[in-house]
Amino acid sequence: MQKINFDIIESLKVIVGHNNYVDSKDQIEPYVKDIWGKYNGITPIVLKPTSTKTVSKIVKFCNENNIGVVPQGGNTGLVGGGIPSISGNEIVISMEKMNSICDIDCVNYTMTVESGCILSDVQDVALKSKRLFPLSLGAEGSCQIGGNLSTNAGGTAVLKYGNAKELVLGLEVVMPDGEIYDGLRRLRKDNTGYDLKQLFLGSEGTLGIITKAVLKLFPLPADKVTSLVALPSLESAPKLLASLREITGDDITAFEYMDRSCIDILEIHTDLQDPFGEKYNHFALIELTSSRKDAGLQELLEKTFSRAVENENVVDAIVAVSESQASRLWKMREMLPEVYRLQGGGLSFDISVPVSSVPEFIRLATMYCKDSYAKGTILTFGHIGDGNVHFIFMKPSNIDMDDFLLHTKDISVIMYDTAAKFDGSFSAEHGVGVTKKPELQHYKSNNELKLMRTIKKSIDINNIMNPGKIL
Ligand SMILES: Cc1cc2nc3c(=O)[nH]c(=O)nc-3n(C[C@H](O)[C@H](O)[C@H](O)COP(=O)(O)OP(=O)(O)OC[C@H]3O[C@@H](n4cnc5c(N)ncnc54)[C@H](O)[C@@H]3O)c2cc1C
Repeated sequence: MQKINFDIIESLKVIVGHNNYVDSKDQIEPYVKDIWGKYNGITPIVLKPTSTKTVSKIVKFCNENNIGVVPQGGNTGLVGGGIPSISGNEIVISMEKMNSICDIDCVNYTMTVESGCILSDVQDVALKSKRLFPLSLGAEGSCQIGGNLSTNAGGTAVLKYGNAKELVLGLEVVMPDGEIYDGLRRLRKDNTGYDLKQLFLGSEGTLGIITKAVLKLFPLPADKVTSLVALPSLESAPKLLASLREITGDDITAFEYMDRSCIDILEIHTDLQDPFGEKYNHFALIELTSSRKDAGLQELLEKTFSRAVENENVVDAIVAVSESQASRLWKMREMLPEVYRLQGGGLSFDISVPVSSVPEFIRLATMYCKDSYAKGTILTFGHIGDGNVHFIFMKPSNIDMDDFLLHTKDISVIMYDTAAKFDGSFSAEHGVGVTKKPELQHYKSNNELKLMRTIKKSIDINNIMNPGKIL
């Protein structure tokens, strides 16, 4: 990478235009550190282009001058993917000013948006047209569509609608040489060679900058039921999910798990209380939705519960009777990433295994971690309807973080090796970024790594696009 000198900075300012950049230390700061303060980078300038053409000119200039480019969305990523390195030789391109809704086609059930649109704004605009854009996650008030697509975000509705990748029909991308890939088609069928857009979805900004996307929309739910269920054991969770599937068909939108420790720390740090009279150890937050008014979801849920009680897979349940009670139940699940940090933090893992293996995975991982360091308590929650477990090995409050990390340095190996036993993934939904680079090298086969490097080299010959991320 070339050092970024005064002339380069001045040229970039001219390309992006007055008022469309920040270059003072104070203004740059929010763009060079991540949401939890784990990563800090350095850049001399953050550019905020307002059109695809300008993004293209910037990237072309950077490619010709060998300057690293870091695309950034809402900067809510958890693996350092949108943060520049400390070399100072990379510029940040923030997509925040490219935030227009270009088109909404209610007959085709599609929406074309610029990639800097905030996820919750996209949801709101779809809602105003009586349509649903189903991607939903804790950071939806600040993450951007471009970031969601680049990380192939998951979230709470994957069971019914799939990951971000599955919600895209077309893409516009500025490639590392500045050329524009125009795949902004609204087609549901298009078998004309390689599906090029898939390359950019989940590639964390290493192959190009997504500037626009055609998103799939769905009918609005007309019937919905939300319930918090107390389970007698972890093993009951996949069994309950399977019987919900049998009885409700594809009406399950969310199936989220929380353990007892989650409820305990919510009670310490928030105004949320355990809604059950008794102290249970395992909980599932379930949401059923249907676009049919007469779907009778409440009856289906009750039927499932009575069968599950007979089979000893449910011990207690609360069914929300109002929207506000439903959002309070959801708040319990959504507050967890913040609350465990208030409790002192710890080592956090984002694992996936086949849904049927979740209980055995959690049991073994807990046992191995405890064998290695008995003092750490464990918090498990996550989108387990997708086999996705957020496993947190908590730091005891009387030990400082450096000591804790020293004593627990083998825990990551234990976790990832245990996941690998189940053919699982070391990063279910947060991506690789810089955090998981060593794991990628260790757990992917040589062939997979070779393929990834070949793709990267052939598209980004000078390695300017988000250098040092993923590979
Ligand atoms: C409280 C909280 C809850 C979360 N819950 C979930 C969850 O349930 N599921 C989940 O999957 N994630 C979750 N996340 C992680 C994060 O919100 C997602 O990864 C999100 O998709 C990142 O979007 P962003 O706009 O913030 O991207 P950023 O953080 O800005 O960037 C992420 C990556 O995408 C690249 N990128 C960004 N925009 C573009 C673009 N236009 N073109 C090319 N590359 C780009 C960046 O270079 C970087 O590599 C959560 C995060 C928080 C803080």
